[in-house]
Amino acid sequence: EAKTRGPGTVALYTQELEAAVVGRTTLESELRTALAGTVSQFVLHYQPVVDLRSGEVVAVESLVRWQHPVLGLVPPDRFIPMAEATGLIHPLGGWVLDQAVRDAGNLTYDGRELYVAVNFSVLQLNDEAVLQVRQVLESSGLTPGRLILEVTESALVQDEDAVVRALEALAQLGVHVAIDDFGTGYSSLHYLRRYPINIIKIDREFVAGIGTSVDDEAICESIVHLAEAVGAMTVAEGVETPEQYAFLRSLGCHHGQGFLWSPPVPAERLPAALAACGEVPVPSTTSPP
Ligand code: C2E
Ligand code: MG
Ligand code: MG
Ligand code: MG
Repeated sequence: EAKTRGPGTVALYTQELEAAVVGRTTLESELRTALAGTVSQFVLHYQPVVDLRSGEVVAVESLVRWQHPVLGLVPPDRFIPMAEATGLIHPLGGWVLDQAVRDAGNLTYDGRELYVAVNFSVLQLNDEAVLQVRQVLESSGLTPGRLILEVTESALVQDEDAVVRALEALAQLGVHVAIDDFGTGYSSLHYLRRYPINIIKIDREFVAGIGTSVDDEAICESIVHLAEAVGAMTVAEGVETPEQYAFLRSLGCHHGQGFLWSPPVPAERLPAALAACGEVPVPSTTSPP
């Protein structure tokens, strides 16, 4: 696929290409080099998050990509686990936080300020991260309440008390915390009890089944009710169809994001993507779930 593209375009990343070009240890050492380099090989894309009632954009989520010189744009699932395993998640996470606030910290939509959501590995949640968040907030002047940290439980937590301490310190600062990919992996009810959580993100695995799987629909509904019961907001991920939008809206799910409105786009294309979100029809309240 990559070789069919013309000169000046980047290769289309595939796992086959990666395997053909570099092995795992090479990619790891290249990740190290990329992070040490002065010219960043990383880039953030942004996806709008929409209020399901009004259809208005309320936030953007930053999603990191690695602009690899040979492989092209490498998706985060291919290198975040490696970064977590090697400790490189700390410098990478620091860069992401800084860049996201720089790119999106003063974004507005229709004159309203938007929330900025940044993904955080649970392994990043320590005292140092709290200091870093405090520094970024101070130097940027971003209102703490406009920053959302989306925590993914991608690895088992060794020191749960340290994570709880960090989350409580972040809550003290006024930063919002979301639990990402809720219902999958290690993200469990246990963490809902232990962590101060403001937002639950319904994993797109469940959203994808709306309209075809009564089980997935029941799971979405239960998560919305659960969130209400613990006083958290809900955000649905991976909303692709008007039917999914209508169903989630009728459940009372607060926010949504997905290809229905926009894929993640580079910062320079964000204003156009935000404007296009306004064109997506809001389902009528009478549409059946
Ligand atoms: P996530 O935070 O749950 O992000 C949602 C993923 O779903 C993104 O994949 C996004 O591009 C994709 N997506 C959004 N809308 C749709 C849709 O309508 N349909 C489908 N099929 N997919 C959709 P992406 O960008 O590849 O990111 C994957 C994961 O990598 C993220 O999942 C997050 O856990 C992690 N990640 C991304 N950026 C960072 C980061 O800066 N730091 C950390 N620690 N993890 C990150
Ligand atoms: Mg996320
Ligand atoms: Mg997610
Ligand atoms: Mg995810």
